[in-house]
Amino acid sequence: MHELGVVFKVIDNLKEVADENNISQISSVTLSLGEVSTVIPKLLTDCWQWAIEKHDFLKGCELKITTIPAITYCEDCGKTYSTVQSGKICPHCGSEHTYLVQGQEFLIKEIEVPEDEDHAAGTEMNASEMKGEYKSAFDSASPIHTEV
Ligand SMILES: [Zn+2]
Repeated sequence: MHELGVVFKVIDNLKEVADENNISQISSVTLSLGEVSTVIPKLLTDCWQWAIEKHDFLKGCELKITTIPAITYCEDCGKTYSTVQSGKICPHCGSEHTYLVQGQEFLIKEIEVPEDEDHAAGTEMNASEMKGEYKSAFDSASPIHTEV
C-alpha cells in the first residue's frame, strides 16, 4: 500500500527530528497534502494509527492534514486556474501549454510536542519539506535546543 510507505517515511523523518532536538514525545503532526497528490488522506490516517503504535515517541500522536489546492499555469495567456476543475486545458484561452504550479506536495508542515517537552513559550515548530531540509528549518525556527 502506497500510503503505508508514505507513513513510514514520515515517521523516519520525525524520528530524526526528535533525536536531533532531544524530543521524547511528539503530540501532533500536520501534513500539507496537495490536492492532486497520489496520497489518499483517509488511508493515510488509517495507516498512521496503526504505525504509531509501534513507536513510543509517537504514542497518541495526532495526524492533521491540510490540503494545498492544485493550480495550473497557462504559458499562453499567463493566467492560473484550478487544476481539478479544468485539467490540462486552460479555461481562459483553451491552450494546452499548461503546467502544474502546485498541488502535488507532500510536506510535514508542523510538529507539536507536549508542553512539558517544550522549554520555550510556544509549542509549535515549523518543519520544512521532507528530509534534508529539516536541519536548517529547525535550527532557525525551533527554540527547543537553543534556549534550554
Ligand atoms: Zn490560457
